[in-house]
Amino acid sequence: MDMEGRLAAIRSRIEAACRRSGRQPEEVTIIAVTKYTSLETAEAVLAAGLTNIGENRWQDVKPKWEAIGDRAVWHFIGSLQTNKVKDVIGKFPYIHSLDRLSLAEELNRKAKALGLAPVECFIQLNVSGEESKHGLGPEGLDEFAGQLAELPYIHVTGLMTMAPLEGGSDSARPVFRRLRELRDQLNAKRILPYAIHDLSMGMSGDFETAVEEGATYIRLGTVLVGSQS
Ligand SMILES: *Cc1c(COP(=O)(O)O)cnc(C)c1O
Repeated sequence: MDMEGRLAAIRSRIEAACRRSGRQPEEVTIIAVTKYTSLETAEAVLAAGLTNIGENRWQDVKPKWEAIGDRAVWHFIGSLQTNKVKDVIGKFPYIHSLDRLSLAEELNRKAKALGLAPVECFIQLNVSGEESKHGLGPEGLDEFAGQLAELPYIHVTGLMTMAPLEGGSDSARPVFRRLRELRDQLNAKRILPYAIHDLSMGMSGDFETAVEEGATYIRLGTVLVGSQS
């Protein structure tokens, strides 16, 4: 199947998940995860009508970013070392992996120094509690959000998580549901001076469950780019 065919199949699965959960497909944005793939694959994603691209390492994405530039909206989805902020700042308007204050302070400092708009960040939470997972423990969310509220060049777009690799939708669903509840609780407590809306959750193996539980951004790699390189 080609890119158009795979995308059509994905869209109909999103539509079905929306019907099951009383949502609208327009509420769900696909981020095409093109990590490990070539510039040609990224171009095929854009030609198929997607505009949001997710990547996780600057060294790998650099040639794609330089060729594509602002024809795509770039999402940084990998864990970000503080000393790599200089590479991605101004190039990736969305950072999905904000999980610690030192990283937030560096993003804030660099964005300010460069005169950029506030960086749109997702707070990455380790909801499943797996040790192998990056992300902040949910118990630290309120304090962290309070610290972020003090940084004028950080804007919290929403929350991000990854479901356990094993266990399919049975183990993914409670993780996704919890992320939604954490968002709602954070808004109810008014720790940030604005309400947050977005939930970045769901990958190739669990995106329908994520949509049913309220995902607004799903991050799709293999199901979309297939075995292309
Ligand atoms: C690789 C990756 C994805 C996409 O994974 P697939 O299972 O291939 O869809 C999504 N999110 C993050 C954070 C990733 O690293």
